[in-house]
Amino acid sequence: MASERGIVFHPAAVLRQKAKPVAKVDGFVVELVRDMHRLAKEYDGIGLAAPQVGESLRVFVTCALYGEPERAFINPRIELSGAIVGDDEGCLSLPEIRAEIMRPPVAKITALDLEGNEFTLEREGIWARVWQHEYDHLEGVMIIDRMRPLDKLANRRALRDLERSVERSGGR
Ligand code: ZN
Ligand code: ZN
Repeated sequence: MASERGIVFHPAAVLRQKAKPVAKVDGFVVELVRDMHRLAKEYDGIGLAAPQVGESLRVFVTCALYGEPERAFINPRIELSGAIVGDDEGCLSLPEIRAEIMRPPVAKITALDLEGNEFTLEREGIWARVWQHEYDHLEGVMIIDRMRPLDKLANRRALRDLERSVERSGGR
């Protein structure tokens, strides 16, 4: 059966909600993760969080890139360390918007996989950054909240255009 799921754009309300934990890793979650991988690939993303496809659940995926396999992180917990560093970030829910975001460089993450088994990974650099970006989505936080004032100013027009077009199309 063809899926109706698509990417949800700012300022959709679901992007601002604190997502709910997954109670059981069942067929619904497996299908959700499959849709998220498909959409992340289609839109050339590195990762995608469930609220970005309209599901307020604590799930995100990362794509097979930079030597890592495709992964799903269900009910993740994250621990950060190191002195914060800046790097350029974009977001599939904020097309045309990019900014330098400051984050700690090291992240240790514990989550459930699609079999419901807990696993822990630790990475420095790009994956630590992607995990933090996706984890933010589960908390209702987006890069526009973490931008410095100058970047906010530079992205102001793109943000306003996006908000207008999304409002016109009724939330999608
Ligand atoms: Zn993928
Ligand atoms: Zn994002």
